[in-house]
Amino acid sequence: MKPADIVIIGSGIACTSTLIEVFSRLIEKPADHKISITIIEKNHEFWLGIPYGSRSSVNALTITSIYDFFTDELERNYFLDWFTQNQIELLGWYQQNGGATAKQWMQRNAEAIKTGDWKNVYLPRYICGKYQRQKFETALRIVEEKGLVELTLINAEVIDIKPENNSYVVNYELPDKTYFSLSAAKVVIATGSAPVRNIDLPRDNDAITVINDLYEPGAEENIQKLTDALSETKNQTDRNVLVIGSNASSIEFLYLLAGQPQVIRLINKLVVISKSGLLPYHIINDPLSEHLTNNLDQLKIQGNYTVEALVDAAKKDISIAVKDGVIVSYIDKIIGFTFELLQPLDENAKKAFIGIYGMQLSNLFRRSGADYKTGSGLLNELGKLVLLKGSFDKIDGSGELHYTATDSDQKLIYPARFKMVVNCTGSDDLSRSPSKLIYNLVHNGIAEVNLSGKGLLVNKCFEAAPNLYVIGPLLGGNKNERIHFWHLENASRIMYLAPYLAECLVP
Ligand SMILES: Cc1cc2nc3c(=O)[nH]c(=O)nc-3n(C[C@H](O)[C@H](O)[C@H](O)COP(=O)(O)OP(=O)(O)OC[C@H]3O[C@@H](n4cnc5c(N)ncnc54)[C@H](O)[C@@H]3O)c2cc1C
Repeated sequence: MKPADIVIIGSGIACTSTLIEVFSRLIEKPADHKISITIIEKNHEFWLGIPYGSRSSVNALTITSIYDFFTDELERNYFLDWFTQNQIELLGWYQQNGGATAKQWMQRNAEAIKTGDWKNVYLPRYICGKYQRQKFETALRIVEEKGLVELTLINAEVIDIKPENNSYVVNYELPDKTYFSLSAAKVVIATGSAPVRNIDLPRDNDAITVINDLYEPGAEENIQKLTDALSETKNQTDRNVLVIGSNASSIEFLYLLAGQPQVIRLINKLVVISKSGLLPYHIINDPLSEHLTNNLDQLKIQGNYTVEALVDAAKKDISIAVKDGVIVSYIDKIIGFTFELLQPLDENAKKAFIGIYGMQLSNLFRRSGADYKTGSGLLNELGKLVLLKGSFDKIDGSGELHYTATDSDQKLIYPARFKMVVNCTGSDDLSRSPSKLIYNLVHNGIAEVNLSGKGLLVNKCFEAAPNLYVIGPLLGGNKNERIHFWHLENASRIMYLAPYLAECLVP
């Protein structure tokens, strides 16, 4: 059989943004044949990915305000026009389906939406997904009507890709566990963030119930699983929940729980264990405060610095800046200044900055909007939230937590047992990834992990190997003439890169 022209693995926003751009190029300059494109998606739902579809809750919000979700002004205006035209229907549906969380969200945000104060509105994410899918489907209709593209969809998990005779053999596993393969001239890996790391967790048993991935099979199903496990636990004092990690999914989990008073009532204590013992900071709107950067100023005056000294100074300034919460413009100033001071350094220093140090800086100002803060705020007010500063070692089958205290390095056992444990640790180094595809790519020497450990090394044409392309979070940590982000868990950056990838796919 003739190889497909293009196979895309994963059908989230990285895939749809790329296809929209590919279609637009084909409309402008049709190819000499109908381009065959196959999309292989492991979930039954296409075009929405994890954040914007049914694996997330309808109540899950954008991580940034909607203003920053669409950083491109033209795209933002398209979105806002679409949203305004469909607002009554969209928000009506949301109020009907989002329960108490939606009602509270509407109360908090009604005024900002009315006045168009988009800098402070964190929209339910599924609305962004709906917009993107409509945009994609419109573009698809046009290329199909013009006979420019033939699209094939396969619901399967790709487990391996191998080069063969100037093309690639893509091996995939169907939901019924049967295996097939197809051949493709070009393959795009658009599989989103690498899956959560495998940690030492027991299997579900009578004593403990485990959620290894909040979005698998879906957040709502997992909250139901938690409710069932706690309801079946007789003593209120035994109904303890352990959340491992304090990243974005952890704060989202607390927010979703807080909207369900019947679940909150069941919980005795909810313990979040993380090295920092902190949840993301809240965002402060304080445009008037003085944005001092004493450590970076000092470094500039002194001159002749290394990238390590630069990072050290930036870290010091950030830790002062986030003392009372995150002022976005203040952080932007520090990062902007750090970049300015990076410019005179050599290429290796720049690569190390993007590959290693940038992420370390970002971890110092993890932030979340006011809506999400209400979740941890409520649990805190009720005396149910415990932030434990330490690293998780293991939890045994009886629910006993073993951990290492961050400050003392002491090995400790938590004084209460847990009925429920939720893994919110984020992804592992790609060489240890539980994704069969990523593991095989790396261990079969087809793709190389970049300096960050979290991304695949690519050239300026997004290629990890000839005609094997990457788009989305797995690009994080690359530094070349085109791609230079330390993290790409960010829809707006993915949309920004999509036209460039399209240019490489259909020159
Ligand atoms: C829960 C969550 C919330 C987020 N919220 C925001 C936000 O508010 N704003 C923001 O800018 N960014 C957010 N992000 C960051 C996110 O990475 C990007 O916004 C964007 O969704 C990434 O798109 P993607 O298509 O690369 O990944 P995804 O949307 O994750 O899509 C990847 C798809 O690939 C499929 N897949 C994976 N492996 C395989 C395989 N081997 N075979 C076949 N299919 C496979 C998956 O099932 C999935 O559908 C969030 C991320 C997550 C996980």
